[in-house]
Amino acid sequence: LSPVPSDIEISRGQTPKAVDVLAKEIGLLADEIEIYGKSKAKVRLSVLERLKNQADGKYVLVAGITPTPLGEGKSTVTIGLVQALTAHLNVNSFACLRQPSQGPTFGVKGGAAGGGYAQVIPMEEFNLHLTGDIHAITAANNLLAAAIDTRILHENTQTDKALYNRLVPLVNGVREFSEIQLARLKKLGINKTDPSTLTEEEVSKFARLDINPSTITWQRVLDTNDRFLRKITIGQGNTEKGYFRQAQFDIAVASEIMAVLALTDSLADMKARLGRMVVASDKSGQPVTAEDLGVTGALTVLMKDAIKPNLMQTLEGTPVFVHAGPFANIAHGNSSVLADKIALKLVGEEGFVVTEAGFGADIGMEKFFNIKCRASGLVPNVVVLVATVRALKMHGGGPSVSKLHYVKTELNGCCNLQKQIQIAQLFGVPVVVALNVFKTDTRAEIDLVCELAKRAGAFDAVPCYHWSVGGKGSVDLARAVREAASKRSQFQFLYDVQVRSIVDKIRTIAQAVYGAKDIELSPEAQAKIDRYTKQGFGNLPICMAKTHLSLSHEPDKKGVPRDFILPISDVRASIGAGFIYPLVGTMSTMPGLPTRPCFYDIDLDTETEQVKGLF
Ligand code: ADP
Repeated sequence: LSPVPSDIEISRGQTPKAVDVLAKEIGLLADEIEIYGKSKAKVRLSVLERLKNQADGKYVLVAGITPTPLGEGKSTVTIGLVQALTAHLNVNSFACLRQPSQGPTFGVKGGAAGGGYAQVIPMEEFNLHLTGDIHAITAANNLLAAAIDTRILHENTQTDKALYNRLVPLVNGVREFSEIQLARLKKLGINKTDPSTLTEEEVSKFARLDINPSTITWQRVLDTNDRFLRKITIGQGNTEKGYFRQAQFDIAVASEIMAVLALTDSLADMKARLGRMVVASDKSGQPVTAEDLGVTGALTVLMKDAIKPNLMQTLEGTPVFVHAGPFANIAHGNSSVLADKIALKLVGEEGFVVTEAGFGADIGMEKFFNIKCRASGLVPNVVVLVATVRALKMHGGGPSVSKLHYVKTELNGCCNLQKQIQIAQLFGVPVVVALNVFKTDTRAEIDLVCELAKRAGAFDAVPCYHWSVGGKGSVDLARAVREAASKRSQFQFLYDVQVRSIVDKIRTIAQAVYGAKDIELSPEAQAKIDRYTKQGFGNLPICMAKTHLSLSHEPDKKGVPRDFILPISDVRASIGAGFIYPLVGTMSTMPGLPTRPCFYDIDLDTETEQVKGLF
């Protein structure tokens, strides 16, 4: 239709096929799905065992140039591309997307189901609770937070013996260690299995974690942009006996548990990762883990359904996995390894899996390669780099509705696209540029961007029109991707995790990817690096927490900033997820609401039960 109706109107205009029909079409067995309502299903991990001898399909990453705050259409291109591949070229394909946080849905950006005629439907189910995975993460995260503070309170208010007796209760009149407790004894070097034989010193060592409250890094989370929770004081009730401290809430998708969900490849691996999560240090400087708090099993129980990818469909009835959505600035911003792995089996050797990385390629794609592909062992075949004329104009120094001049030369806006192409080439993967066309773009602008992209080394560059016409508007892109994927992937990591030090890895990313002259570590960052190295975490990959609005650390530096020194203000660790994350400047982990948030427009028609105003 012209003009293109709103996203929710388009979504509602199409009746999705029943999800069990979709599941059957793509080769899933009836007992491999768990149906949620009419159009969503969870897919059991047992399918991986059944298809273990099936060769994987081609693996395509959708990344983007440095975006405007509105987003340049990565999700929309991802959906448009699979619609073109499956519905128009008859090639099996799967899109793998992140589950959006409720924060942007009710805040500034709106939903993330794609847009126009390239969407996941029903978009309100995609954008709201889906199947409850984020709620499960919130529950697990906050159980662990409660466990930390309660343990400190109990350790401070009880004798060693009383603590020990409560931690190791009587079972039929006999004290028995649980499996987790036996593991903890082993870690402490106490090789005993009979609780009655521990010496007084051993009882104290076992019962006390001795958490240093000032080192607690585990925060409570909530999936709402609630800026008033950025700094809080907890424990002010009389019953907490004066054990209050300053703490904070993060947005739920910033929880390490979300990053664990996105990187795990089995239930056993998820349980091990949850147990390894470091929440604080003890008074002697040793890391305290979720396992030490005895909460690993409970966390795994809360997450047992969330680990199964969610099956949905595009507007043109092709399959989509929506699974995990780690915060793209302090975590790696990519959907789950498990969804990609299952999809790669389901599409078959000739098929395509198109997965999306958050933010610009300097952040989302770099983390996709160095963190996600390292964890999964999967080898990507093609990068699709999404660009828009409006963002290129912004990089050329102009307002978005201005002249060609702002896109034109290397010094102007296209330099950002050229630089992002070069970043992808560092990893040895061919790049196809997808110019996401807006109705204000002129022919001359479209031709110019495609020409400059090819000159910068892109395998191909094509305009796409999926937003206004659906999959048929991206057939050229689909053909270009298919051709690029027929080349042998020369994929390589940017750095060796084992050999390089933490500082060296940070410097490599800053210089080779962002184009920085060097890095500058604050004393706090250096101290943390020394501590993590001493604790044995020096061989993890790096997950940079940097603004996505510039290649540098300053959001207003557009194009390709040069000669800057990247300041590293602090360094933190997500040991369960398996990365170290340096903070470049200050990063907010709890967004706020604007004066006129999206929720103003969201409403329910109480007669028809239809959701209105989501976009
Ligand atoms: P990203 O994934 O890069 O953040 P999205 O795909 O979510 O971006 O798109 C951001 C917004 O822009 C969505 O609301 C989408 O509907 C809109 N959009 C994307 N492509 C176009 C286009 N070609 N014309 C008009 N609006 C578009």
